[in-house]
Amino acid sequence: MLKTLLREIPSVDEVMRSDRLNQYLILYSKDLVAHSVRHVLGEIRNDIIVGKRFDTSAENIEIFVKKYLENILKPSIKKMVNATGVILHSNIGRALLCEEAADAVRTAAFNSVNLEFDMEKGERGDRNSHIEALVCYLTGAEAATIVNNNAAAVLLTLNTLAEGKEVIVSRGELIEIGGSFRIPDVINKSGCKLVEVGTTNRTRPEDYISAISNITALILKAHTSNYKVVGFTSSVSLKDLVIIGSKNNIPVIEDLGSGLLVDLSPYGFSSEPVVRDSLKNGADIVTFSGDKLLGGPQSGIIAGKKEYVHQINKNPLKRALRVDKLTIAAMEATLKLYLQPDKLYKKLPTLRFLTRPINEIEAVAKVAAGLLKKRLGHYYVVKVENGSSAIGSGSLPLESVPTKVVSIQHKTIPLEEIYSMFLNNNPPILGRVHKGKYLLDMRTIEKAEDVVIASLPYFQQPFT
Ligand SMILES: *Cc1c(COP(=O)(O)O)cnc(C)c1O
Repeated sequence: MLKTLLREIPSVDEVMRSDRLNQYLILYSKDLVAHSVRHVLGEIRNDIIVGKRFDTSAENIEIFVKKYLENILKPSIKKMVNATGVILHSNIGRALLCEEAADAVRTAAFNSVNLEFDMEKGERGDRNSHIEALVCYLTGAEAATIVNNNAAAVLLTLNTLAEGKEVIVSRGELIEIGGSFRIPDVINKSGCKLVEVGTTNRTRPEDYISAISNITALILKAHTSNYKVVGFTSSVSLKDLVIIGSKNNIPVIEDLGSGLLVDLSPYGFSSEPVVRDSLKNGADIVTFSGDKLLGGPQSGIIAGKKEYVHQINKNPLKRALRVDKLTIAAMEATLKLYLQPDKLYKKLPTLRFLTRPINEIEAVAKVAAGLLKKRLGHYYVVKVENGSSAIGSGSLPLESVPTKVVSIQHKTIPLEEIYSMFLNNNPPILGRVHKGKYLLDMRTIEKAEDVVIASLPYFQQPFT
């Protein structure tokens, strides 16, 4: 029985002869089409073996081959409209680049560049040179280097300065960021031994002091980016850790997470540490992301004392974690914007969205609501309401920013369906469902038209 069914599966050649696959054979290689046919036939075979019925008619198989091919051929990375209000949404690519960075990426992409070429000497140079002076100026660091992301920055720093030795961390800072970055695991993978001190809510200077042994190599302070312990708590300030560290000749490093380079307290945000302050308070090394509040490309920056950055750069692991010319180009252009403070908040999308005046957000919301009412018809309730935006990516976790949202409801259509209706638009519009309403947060939207779906699904079209 099984054998008979399996025998009904046509051969690759038979399927390839179908006229309906011709369009692909003309545009793409015969290999690609044959690969797709083989893949589909293999799946059918497996289905039949596990007892699933499958229509082995040539027509049906061709449909599956076409689907498989279309899937390979269509662009996978697509533009999306971020109407979540979350400025640094990890699932949709975190920070948007500024135009200057995008231009620099384009130039670097299409041309040979002096990535590792010293123009003055006419010989091999260092890729860090393009960003180091800028980072040093903006943070007060003596030296700086750049790697793939902040996770890499922490890993490389620990491995360079503490491999085979002990790293002291407060139990209140054994954090997990976004599922896969956990301080204890990173310490382990760096080849270091974690020494936990204190408790979840309280750690005192004595806890650190009594944990110091002859193989203590580092004290690590990790910024508890995405949560806060409140109530009966105490932690040891960076300043006090630096005093303990220097008495015992142990460097102190701080994983800041978000690389905030400017003081945002005039805008009402004060909980996120500014990189410059950590270094001023004596951290020997700080690490932070390039694509969180800094607003640049995905990357991690290591900044601090020259002797340590020098050792870090010499670690063979650095080669495995280094960034390419596109990232360096984007980071250099992003950092250069910081040299012009009056332009910075207008031109850098991350800071522009974060500090956007509420009346400007409201103006966009009103236009969007008007357009959506027209598009959706009478049966939807569309309103402009007050809301609050989250920053995302663990930055400023407790601070939500007042915003204006367009809320959408319908008597019978469930919210999940409204959510998918917007997500199925081209380009997909991502909103959120909150307290019985579908919300489009205008904080991250600059043109009202961007959140208007092109058409209602066919089953909702009004009769004419
Ligand atoms: C975000 C974050 C990380 C990870 O940074 P990536 O750039 O995502 O690799 C590490 N530590 C802290 C404290 C963070 O906030």
